[in-house]
Amino acid sequence: MSRNRIIGELIAIAGADSVFHEPSDLIVYEYDGSVDGAVETARPVAVVLPRNAQQISELVKLANREKLPITPRGAGTGLSGGAVSQAGGIVIGLSRMNEIIEVDPIDRTALVEPGVINLELSEFTTPYGFSFAPDPSSQRACTIGGNVAENSGGPHCLKYGVTTNHILGLEMVLPDGRIVWVGGRAPGLSGYDLTAAMVGSEGLLGIVTKALVRLTPLPEAISVQLAAFPTMEAASVAVSRIIGAGIIPAALEMMDQLAIQAVEPVYHAGYPMDAGAVLLIEVDGLREDVDDTVPEITRICTESGATTVRNARTKVERDLLWKGRKMAIAAMGRLAPAYYLHDTVVPRTKLPATLKHVEAVSREYKLPIANMFHAGDGNLHPLMLFDRHKKGDVERVLHASKDLLTYCIEVGGALSGEHGIGTEKRGYMELVFTGEDLAAMAGLKNAFDPGGLFNPEKLFPKGYVCGEVRALRAKAIAQKHGIYPM
Ligand SMILES: Cc1cc2nc3c(=O)[nH]c(=O)nc-3n(C[C@H](O)[C@H](O)[C@H](O)COP(=O)(O)OP(=O)(O)OC[C@H]3O[C@@H](n4cnc5c(N)ncnc54)[C@H](O)[C@@H]3O)c2cc1C
Repeated sequence: MSRNRIIGELIAIAGADSVFHEPSDLIVYEYDGSVDGAVETARPVAVVLPRNAQQISELVKLANREKLPITPRGAGTGLSGGAVSQAGGIVIGLSRMNEIIEVDPIDRTALVEPGVINLELSEFTTPYGFSFAPDPSSQRACTIGGNVAENSGGPHCLKYGVTTNHILGLEMVLPDGRIVWVGGRAPGLSGYDLTAAMVGSEGLLGIVTKALVRLTPLPEAISVQLAAFPTMEAASVAVSRIIGAGIIPAALEMMDQLAIQAVEPVYHAGYPMDAGAVLLIEVDGLREDVDDTVPEITRICTESGATTVRNARTKVERDLLWKGRKMAIAAMGRLAPAYYLHDTVVPRTKLPATLKHVEAVSREYKLPIANMFHAGDGNLHPLMLFDRHKKGDVERVLHASKDLLTYCIEVGGALSGEHGIGTEKRGYMELVFTGEDLAAMAGLKNAFDPGGLFNPEKLFPKGYVCGEVRALRAKAIAQKHGIYPM
């Protein structure tokens, strides 16, 4: 079918105001939050912003008939290229499906559409005494559908768990267009746990059209402490000692000197400019427990070499301390025109050695690297600063990245704590998984999506998913005949 007829059919399904196909409209969908160079940009045939699951089902059936790849998209804040349509085809944007359908304070659940913004869900449920615990630093923009697809984490996931721990059920459109529910309100449902399979599936198994999420009661008391250390090593020792003492903070975040230099002059969060590293330590719970734990943390930090330990007493002070951390990436423009944010995880005991390796990589490749990360979970976020217009800078960053990722895998770590694999890290999957492991995962993908049309060219190294081969062939034929512009 010609491109114009396909656009016509898309409009018939979703309405003219929901289908975008002019180059000037499509250009913004060529990207997500990932680094150009680590992830290739790509232009879809069209972007459709449907309003309900029924429309999505019809779009998917059309795509099946025409062998057009489908890429789901939330807010496009993903950092691994997941929402970029590398194989062309149709992008289905969920941003207009953004209703909070129901909040149930007795069952402690909310039923939401996938385009609801993460922070807005917590703001909406605050008057009921609840929040949605997973809080990625991108929470002002990212969507619940994107959080589900990436199994997102955030500072408070140390105590409360990542997204998978907060999803009870999902309505989704399958790759053949059927609309199904997996999971539900009742605990201990029998049968396969398809909700868990969907969470973290990066848009390869289905499109989430509703999510039944668990709400977390707001704690009675919250304390946020800022501890400043002369070195990252001393701060890492404090992290191990806090956890070793049996304390599970709600959040335990570290920022290094370079990150402090970028953040403090912008947000005036109160981080000492001469510190080698700062920790933000939040504890929450019953007032008595918090009152007991705070002096214990102060003692551990001081014994580990902290030069300052300060308690934020008011909500305003607490919010300011957090603003510095959560908005840190936005301040990096002060230091360099571009950054590449990594997301590896290492066992907590390997943190000090890994941070030393980050320093060595920085020296070897002559790249400034800032660190800001979820220290409590060993989830590192080394942020490489560069200038894409400087000859050789992108290549240097990519070589340094490979060095860093390989090291983290060697010490028993994982490729991604929360940003997903996407296209960015699919080439590294064989460092972690054997052929048999990958074939078992591909079996799940093929069971859901035998045609390989949902988000092809993601997550799996080339060749593991049969349908992907078909999708690539369809793309080549389409390009040859000039039917679908790339
Ligand atoms: C400044 C910054 C800070 C960040 N901090 C964090 C952090 O602390 N923790 C963290 O985990 N991540 C973080 N991220 C990464 C990103 O924000 C998360 O992965 C987020 O969950 C992506 O949501 P999104 O709506 O932008 O999804 P998108 O980027 O649009 O999509 C991400 C993936 O989800 C799929 N998808 C989207 N919606 C659906 C749906 N309804 N059904 C099926 N698949 C879907 C897409 O196909 C794609 O594969 C950060 C990103 C930035 C830019």
